[in-house]
Amino acid sequence: MQDGRATPNDGREDLRRAAAELADRLPGPLASLARLAYNYRWSWLPGGPELFASVDPERFELSCQNPVRLLEECRFGMLARAAANDALLASAARLEALLREDLERPSHRDFDPERPVAFLCAEYGVHVSLPVYSGGLGALAGDLLKEASDRAIPIAAVGLMYRKGYFRQRIDAGGWQHEYWVDTDPQRLPAALVTRPSGEPLTITVPVYEADVTAQIWRVAVGRVPLFLLDTDIPANGPLERWITARLYEADAHTRLAQYILLGIGGVRALRALGIEPSVIHLNEGHAALAPLELVRVAEHDGESLRGALESARKRTVFTTHTPVPAGNDSYPAEQVERAIARLAQELSLPASELLALGRTRGDDQHEPFGVTQAALRMSGAANAVSRRHGEVGREMWSSLWPDLPVEEVPIGYVTNGVHVPTWIGRAMRELLDAHLGERWIAEAADPATWDPVADIPDAELWAARGRQRSELVEFIRGRSTADRLARGDVREYVQAASRAFDPHVLTIGFARRVATYKRLELLTRDPEWTLSLLSGEQAVQVVLAGKAHPRDEEAKRTLQKLFGLKYARVIGERVVFLDDYDLRSAALLVRGCDLWLNLPRPPLEACGTSGMKSAINGGLQLSVLDGWWAEAYDGLNGWAISGDVDADQYAQDERDAAELHKLLSGEVVPSFYDRDGRDLPVAWLSRIRASLRSIGPRFCASRMLAEYAARAYRHSVRDGKVMTP
Ligand SMILES: *Cc1c(COP(=O)(O)O)cnc(C)c1O
Repeated sequence: MQDGRATPNDGREDLRRAAAELADRLPGPLASLARLAYNYRWSWLPGGPELFASVDPERFELSCQNPVRLLEECRFGMLARAAANDALLASAARLEALLREDLERPSHRDFDPERPVAFLCAEYGVHVSLPVYSGGLGALAGDLLKEASDRAIPIAAVGLMYRKGYFRQRIDAGGWQHEYWVDTDPQRLPAALVTRPSGEPLTITVPVYEADVTAQIWRVAVGRVPLFLLDTDIPANGPLERWITARLYEADAHTRLAQYILLGIGGVRALRALGIEPSVIHLNEGHAALAPLELVRVAEHDGESLRGALESARKRTVFTTHTPVPAGNDSYPAEQVERAIARLAQELSLPASELLALGRTRGDDQHEPFGVTQAALRMSGAANAVSRRHGEVGREMWSSLWPDLPVEEVPIGYVTNGVHVPTWIGRAMRELLDAHLGERWIAEAADPATWDPVADIPDAELWAARGRQRSELVEFIRGRSTADRLARGDVREYVQAASRAFDPHVLTIGFARRVATYKRLELLTRDPEWTLSLLSGEQAVQVVLAGKAHPRDEEAKRTLQKLFGLKYARVIGERVVFLDDYDLRSAALLVRGCDLWLNLPRPPLEACGTSGMKSAINGGLQLSVLDGWWAEAYDGLNGWAISGDVDADQYAQDERDAAELHKLLSGEVVPSFYDRDGRDLPVAWLSRIRASLRSIGPRFCASRMLAEYAARAYRHSVRDGKVMTP
């Protein structure tokens, strides 16, 4: 994108101007910080976060690590001090040179920079300061954009600028989850409103129900990749339409459908308004399912027949499905969808009834609701699930869309997710691997040979790096959990326990994921006596928990509440911590610091899971059900596994899995961690870490994932069939 012809209205100039205006308000020597602040590339350059933190560490945290706000809100005295700090200026100059070099590289030779891949997704977890994400899907999308930037693959991403983001979580003293929303001021984000040469915002319009909804477009720079966020909160719209981009995963179906029309149809219109003609359109999850219809409309307008237009749109569309959980595959009553899209359908020669049929498993069943996953599967030329096992589950789950095909031939392949290594790896582990794997190891992370030297990292060095990352987590946990408990109004003794909570030398277990019933957090506390004895044993264990329950998922909320019910047992106060409001920042600290990462989904409902991969590249070990990615990663030496067999009797399955969990934790994990040699090093544990790094590092990094998308889906317009790992 960066090396293409100068497109006047794509927001690049607006971003440059915003950075220049910020630079003008800073002491002269800090101008390069302003330019760095407007491209998230700083966040994954070694030394980038440290650079901004060094300007004013407290304000950097107060501004949610948003460097634009930091520089705007920082007191002049602090700025003047930074402007006189030679080391800081040298670091800024070095980082800016790296950024410029990165932006000026030519695009990957297999791709035409004039025809980028359009990537459409409802959420993006690029950075904690850009709160337009909720969890795994967003984190994955953010990682994919960063990797595309690193690989110089031309992608243009489109999403929505949620002014209130996703809900924030606060747990009260009784353990009940409360939700609240925080307003984001996009003017203070590292984002620029795309304007026309006249200075007016560039806008697009989409018909939604009876209204013509207008959206303006923000541009965010994720390294070389532009992320365009549509925003309807403008005076041209009525109050209902302004609300469309208020909240991510708004529960109200009316608003949700409006969001999907905006993202799908509006997303493609926005790209055209920006002068971008995509090669392939990647629907990352079903929310953007309507996007191909906009390609159809344009093709019809250019004289193609409806059938021809539908077929050529299909050939340009690839779809990734991300969950087998029914709640993740939205569907809406046909009448409601019909009202939402009636005027849109009129713009095509496609009758509304046929459009609705695209979203039905049995197209002619008038009573069946409209499902976005069905629509995306029908309108894409290639489709994939996100792990090998999820591929099997997905083919089974959607086989009735292809009644004439045997299940194995259902055209849903898989590309297993991977994580962006520079984003997730902690500093100590990065320094360790930099020292042992050679300078280019990050660029060649997908090559197993890159990881071979891990075998020769001395025990003491590996253990020291793990210790540093665990200590950083412990320090964070003490501060955060004390504040959380004070805010909840907990009893004094329990608050004080938080300030003593966690020991930097104790086996630290992490369980951080959405609190949904199928994730089975309760397996940990199914037998409270066992839990208490594990925590108070001679060989100590500490557990950090985090995760949000969906606001309407009462059952999940009760699970949380039950967990909090245990808190008055003395040992719990110091050994178990629940961190409110799980986000990208706490996720990073957890995956870096925990020794053991637990995952207990009820199989086969975990599509993939990525937090375990983040933990693994940091030297964390996995104890997980053989579901999602772990079913293809576990090799007997690189962690621990609980059977992934499916039992129709859920109660029996939970009993059996809890028993397996107990046996593994008490019988293997804990003794192995505390089995030390004469130098106080856990030799067997360390060799398991080495096995884990070597087997997981190359296969579950985002470079491997992106290479697969590039080779099978992005490089050509999509051929009919599967995006399939052989
Ligand atoms: C990585 C990540 C996730 C996804 O984790 P799972 O393993 O899929 O549960 C969710 N939330 C945040 C904040 C993350 O960083």
